[in-house]
Amino acid sequence: MDDHHHHTSGRDGHDCAHAHDHAARAPEALARAEDDCRARGERLTPVRRRVLEALYRTHRPLSAYDIAESLPPEEGGKRLSAVSVYRALDFLMAQGFVHRLESRNAFIACPSHHAPGDVIVFLICDRCGGVDERQSDELRGALGRLAEANGFEPRSRIIEVAGACAHCREAA
Ligand SMILES: [Zn+2]
Ligand SMILES: [Zn+2]
Repeated sequence: MDDHHHHTSGRDGHDCAHAHDHAARAPEALARAEDDCRARGERLTPVRRRVLEALYRTHRPLSAYDIAESLPPEEGGKRLSAVSVYRALDFLMAQGFVHRLESRNAFIACPSHHAPGDVIVFLICDRCGGVDERQSDELRGALGRLAEANGFEPRSRIIEVAGACAHCREAA
């Protein structure tokens, strides 16, 4: 019954625990994305890589425009267009490296490897904008039974929960 892995990242109890955690994981996660692409015969092009890096630099969800603006201009001083960013995001989502938060129309880098059919729960803090991604086998089972009882075939299994994170609640 102990399925509450809230803020396992917050071991130092610091306000920016999730940000630190993301930054620390970024090189490792990028290397893993490279490996996955190679194994699947896909290419992590420079544009795709830059977009993924931009998402790993923060624990906050970013819109395609945020991403385009956060990236330094390419040689020749041209910024990446939002269209190019969207195209890269489509690839990154298809590979499971990035998720879309429907409620924010924004994107976030995935910290874990998923199996097909995994239920993903986003805990979205209204106060600091931080997002934690968690998985739950219990929810996976419950959602599977619910869908089956209704003859429903889920296309996505993403649950978005809005509220206040542990750090913000402590600070209050
Ligand atoms: Zn994920
Ligand atoms: Zn918060």
